[in-house]
Amino acid sequence: MEPERDDNSPRMDAKPSAQADGRACRWCGERFPEGELHEEADLGPLCGRCIDVIRSRGENLTLKD
Ligand SMILES: [Zn+2]
Repeated sequence: MEPERDDNSPRMDAKPSAQADGRACRWCGERFPEGELHEEADLGPLCGRCIDVIRSRGENLTLKD
């Protein structure tokens, strides 16, 4: 049993430390400059590519910007 591990739920596994520039997309984990990510109400910051993928699955996204 590994109680720390939960592969299904997106969570901030990258702790904000030295890498203060940019933010990580919650979906793909890639870092993008602030402004290239879009804040989704439930999922958090997502990059445009992931937004396209999620939308293509027929899921609704609530973007804050
Ligand atoms: Zn992404």
